Amino acid sequence: MADPSDDYEIAGELYSAEEIRLKVEELAKRINEDYADRAPLLLIGILKGAFIFLADLARLIEVPVQFDFMALSSYGSATKTSGVVRIRKDLDVEISGRHVLIVEDIIDTGLTLSYLQRNLFARGAASVEICALLNKRAANKVDVPIKYEGFSIPDDFVVGYGLDYAERYRNLPYIATLKK
Ligand code: 5GP
Repeated sequence: MADPSDDYEIAGELYSAEEIRLKVEELAKRINEDYADRAPLLLIGILKGAFIFLADLARLIEVPVQFDFMALSSYGSATKTSGVVRIRKDLDVEISGRHVLIVEDIIDTGLTLSYLQRNLFARGAASVEICALLNKRAANKVDVPIKYEGFSIPDDFVVGYGLDYAERYRNLPYIATLKK
C-alpha cells in the first residue's frame, strides 16, 4: 500500500526539545498560579496529537488534577482541514461545575477548538480555558481565546512532539517542518 508520508521528509527543526521543555515549564507555572484556588482542575487532552505535550505538562502541574481525553475529527492524511468537527471519542466524566483546561497540540483555523469550547460550556463547565502548544495565528479563521499559548508559528505544516503526518513522526522529541 502506498504510504503518503513517503513523499515527504523533515525540512528542518523549528523548536528543539530544550526550547519546548522551557516553554512547557513556563506554561505549567502560570497554570499552577491560576488554578491554585480552583482545584481539582480537569485537564482534557485532545487525541492523538496532544499526548506528549499533555504528559510533559501534567508532570509539572502541582495543583490537584484529573484527566480525561477526547478525540475529534481532524486532518486524516491530508494537510488541509475540512472545518467539520466530529467527536470520535467523548469524555468519560461529567464536567458540570468543573474547571476545565483543554490541552491541544496546535491551533490552525481554530474551528475545532472554537466548537469544543462551546460544546463544553454547554455541558455546564464552570470554566473552559485552552492551552495550546502551537498557534498558526495567520491561519485562524475564528477568534479562539487561547489563555495559554506556547509558540505562535508560521502557516507551515509541522510534525513531531505528538504531531503526525500520516501517523508518522509523532515520537520526534522536537518540532519540525516537512518538505516534499
Ligand atoms: P483547526 O480546527 O484549528 O484548523 O485544526 C486543528 C487540528 O488540525 C490540530 O489538532 C491538528 O490535528 C491539525 N493540524 C493543524 N495544523 C497542523 C500541522 O501543522 N501539523 C499537524 N501534524 N497537524 C496539524
